[in-house]
Amino acid sequence: MMVWINGKLVDKNDAKISVFDHGTLYGDGVFEGIRIYGGRVFQFPAHMDRLFVSAERIYLQPPYTKQELIDATYETMRANGVSDGYIRMVVTRGEGTLGLDPFQCFAPCTFIIVGQIAMYSDEMYENGMAVIIAKTTRTPAGCLDPRVKSLNYLNNICAKIECVKASLCEAIMLNDKGNVSEATGDNVFIVKDGVVITPPAEAGILLGITRNAVMHLCKRMDIPLKERDFKPVELYAADECFLTGTAAEVIAVTKVDDRTIGDGKVGPVTGKLLAAFRELTRTDEEIPYQA
Ligand code: PMP
Repeated sequence: MMVWINGKLVDKNDAKISVFDHGTLYGDGVFEGIRIYGGRVFQFPAHMDRLFVSAERIYLQPPYTKQELIDATYETMRANGVSDGYIRMVVTRGEGTLGLDPFQCFAPCTFIIVGQIAMYSDEMYENGMAVIIAKTTRTPAGCLDPRVKSLNYLNNICAKIECVKASLCEAIMLNDKGNVSEATGDNVFIVKDGVVITPPAEAGILLGITRNAVMHLCKRMDIPLKERDFKPVELYAADECFLTGTAAEVIAVTKVDDRTIGDGKVGPVTGKLLAAFRELTRTDEEIPYQA
């Protein structure tokens, strides 16, 4: 596998960053996870916008332009012969001192990995998945802007540990107000009486690009959609629940804690949205996204 790092394509064994990089020392940096479907990079401009807005929000100036990173990504895809896969694009703060001060880091480190990702089994897409509500709550927006896709995922990892210990693949996190926020690596939707409901930005979520695409599909398909807060009781009583994410795409949740959601099967609205989403991945259509 060839990895693009700081302007060069190198063998993965030679793709190295400094132990003094603040990405390593402090999780100081930003990243994107992006899908490639049939040689097309899905919603590439939206991902680049989010990367650059994330960087700007933490006073990090990527050393390459968006276009340079887009070109580098295609170069890495070609070098690895990948036309269906997953891109990980990372900009770290770069090498610095052992202190926190990010302004002592003068050269951000940028790398692009093109590989594969398989989050969930086919069986889970067909029958839905079981999740728990994590005891670990989402970092409040006042502590760390959740719209920044930063390298610091320890909050999510703590929730992930909870679900792995329960032999499950995902956990839904609440915010400090007790409202549903998001899953450890996915956004959350419920369906009640035909209305699709998803927590708003203020619930402390990453503004997912898949979430944005699914919301757009709802509008296009005349499926009523509301962005509003809801609590676990409403989630337990939902007709359907599903998660969205670059790696997960659209996946039904059929059990939360010990509660069966709806009739315990993948619901009709989830099924329709998954089909429409898969169709979208086969086109060049760009869905407007506000980072
Ligand atoms: N929330 C979190 C915490 C995430 O890490 C992700 C991405 N894995 C998402 C939501 C979904 O975002 P996207 O659809 O842009 O992948």
